[in-house]
Amino acid sequence: TEACLSAIEGAGALNAFVHKTPDLALEQAKAADARIKAGESPDLCGIPLGIKDLFCTKGVPSQAASRILQGFKPEYESTVTSQLFDAGAVMLGKLNMDEFAMGSSNETSAYGNAVNPWRRSDDDTALTPGGSSGGSASAVAADLCLGATGTDTGGSIRQPAAFVGITGIKPTYGRCSRWGIVAFASSLDQAGPMTKDVRDAAIMLQGMCGFDPKDSTSADLAVPDFEAMLTGDIRGKKIGIPREYRMDGMPQEIEALWAEGTKMLKDAGAEIVDISLPHTKYALPAYYVIAPAEASSNLARYDGVRYGHRAQLGQGDGITEMYEKTRAEGFGPEVQRRVMIGTYVLSAGFYDAYYNRARKVRTLIKRDFETVFADGIDAILTPATPSAAFGLGEMSHADPVQMYLNDVFTVTVNLAGLPGVCVPAGLDKQGLPLGLQLIGRPWEEGDLLNTAYALE
Ligand code: GLN
Repeated sequence: TEACLSAIEGAGALNAFVHKTPDLALEQAKAADARIKAGESPDLCGIPLGIKDLFCTKGVPSQAASRILQGFKPEYESTVTSQLFDAGAVMLGKLNMDEFAMGSSNETSAYGNAVNPWRRSDDDTALTPGGSSGGSASAVAADLCLGATGTDTGGSIRQPAAFVGITGIKPTYGRCSRWGIVAFASSLDQAGPMTKDVRDAAIMLQGMCGFDPKDSTSADLAVPDFEAMLTGDIRGKKIGIPREYRMDGMPQEIEALWAEGTKMLKDAGAEIVDISLPHTKYALPAYYVIAPAEASSNLARYDGVRYGHRAQLGQGDGITEMYEKTRAEGFGPEVQRRVMIGTYVLSAGFYDAYYNRARKVRTLIKRDFETVFADGIDAILTPATPSAAFGLGEMSHADPVQMYLNDVFTVTVNLAGLPGVCVPAGLDKQGLPLGLQLIGRPWEEGDLLNTAYALE
């Protein structure tokens, strides 16, 4: 814990932490020492972690990297963080992220973006650590913590993991409780670990998941020992390679990486099968209707009364002006855009044309996966991202769709509620990390992590 705290002090330029909790960390570390001395040592005992700012942590600012939550200190602890603490984990602080987890580059954060510790060359401009869990990715890659929590609504664990060369898993929807995590799109949001390798991911995931009666979508299923399932033996497993993920204009090095990963799994004894997921091309548009729709509804609660920031009011301002001014000042431009898109697609005149249609497409995407799994496919291998990390400020903010295209390989997994893991798989020609994604059957995270282990 002390080593991490001093590393954090020396790494201010990464802007990975939005709030540090050194006193709490040392107190928790002492308590962990005492538990170990008493002969009790749960898996995460004394392990220093960073916590994404989306998790509510009791008495500690939990602001979802938004101005509207400035100063918000919850009276309660999220289920995931309280489970981690019960297992002995230490919290070093709260990690930077895109505002309300909306973004793919960390640039929508109200606290300025986190920075990727990787560079193309010494005089290169700073690169994005990805988003939305960019602070988590940056902190783990730069050894500021041993692991970090992330959340993933459309790729926010897997894409940043790929951009900094670490491992990240989004478990099956319902595996980790969403209670106490600031909601973005409730039918898609899942928490998961971001770690240096697959074994750490297995151990940390174990600490994060489990049934929680406080989340109505939490699955009442036993949690297997994920670490014990890491045998590296994947003989006879059927790995699907979906042809629709071979996008036009895909960089040659991504193709090559994908082929290399396929070969590694084949050499380890897996059977490689060409598969089709025919509705893949509709996933991004469906996601960018459903996620904003749910967000617009979830974000209605930020009214200047119940949480955080309230605008200064003028003479004669009433409650309507208070709402309007608070929300105009409190939400950044990307969040405002999502609220407007969401409100539009849910409005009486457009509900069927957009929202209902997107939900139907979502069902078709889910069925694509069900069909291949019913045909005996155990896991699906795809690239994690269409490119390596890009320069901060390089993506045009005038054209948000350009940024949304980053999520092309990851959003299907959330729409279908499946587990997806991203592992580092090599470097591009500029020396930047690239990741591969494995998508698994529902509730089979253990098996999925074992396949990922074979790629390590
Ligand atoms: N980049 C996607 C978005 O902006 C995904 C974000 C996430 O998974 N939280 O919606």
